[in-house]
Amino acid sequence: SEEMLLHSEKLSVVGQLAAGLAHEIRNPLTAIKGFLQLAARQPEYTAKYIDIMCTEVDRISGITNELLAVAKPQLAEFRPVTLGSIAHRVCELLKSEALMQGITLELSLNDEGAQVLCETDRIHQVLVNLLKNAMDAVADGGQVEVATWVADGLVYLRVTDTGIGMDVETLKRVGEPFYTTKSRGTGLGVMVCQRIIQSHGGCIAWDSRIGEGTSVTLHLPQHIDE
Ligand code: ADP
Repeated sequence: SEEMLLHSEKLSVVGQLAAGLAHEIRNPLTAIKGFLQLAARQPEYTAKYIDIMCTEVDRISGITNELLAVAKPQLAEFRPVTLGSIAHRVCELLKSEALMQGITLELSLNDEGAQVLCETDRIHQVLVNLLKNAMDAVADGGQVEVATWVADGLVYLRVTDTGIGMDVETLKRVGEPFYTTKSRGTGLGVMVCQRIIQSHGGCIAWDSRIGEGTSVTLHLPQHIDE
């Protein structure tokens, strides 16, 4: 039946996640153990080893934080909000980081007060993830733009960057758990975004050209207050 299909689909995603998670956490744990053993033998280098171990611990907590966002059972509270207001807040949050990296962060909000039913914190997290990816992709002097608009009962949000873009392989694999091309990436950001947008009844689409940039477009159903 349809229900059984859905169930086995869920299990395979869980299996995929578990295998990836075990791998991603075992590596930093192995490193930490190695440095602890070294520190016991060479107390004069302890300070240096502690620095490295802290980075590895941060990596594990980064992974667990992102996973909690999709795994934590919680009472969903959907409220009517505008995507523009969330986009505005996230841009304020990331403005100084963009400035320090020489990136122009621009807002072009045209959702005209159209509301969507949102778990605000979750959508906030989606925008942070998408904007951080965009900022990672552009070099000094690059541009990142967030645009919103309304059409045919849907509210759209698009993050466009003038960054490195993605090759066909990456474009195909983006959103696969633990798929990353970054040396310190978790490969969980996009998967988390997709989950959240799906749980809001929306969709995410990717468009990218290597060397030119990427645009990520999401849409959510417009909420009509009766
Ligand atoms: P992470 O950022 O930790 O690598 P994500 O799931 O957020 O994990 O992204 C997965 C991969 O998708 C990235 O490593 C990168 O290769 C690619 N990607 C995502 N967004 C962009 C973007 N705006 N420009 C270029 N590549 C991107």
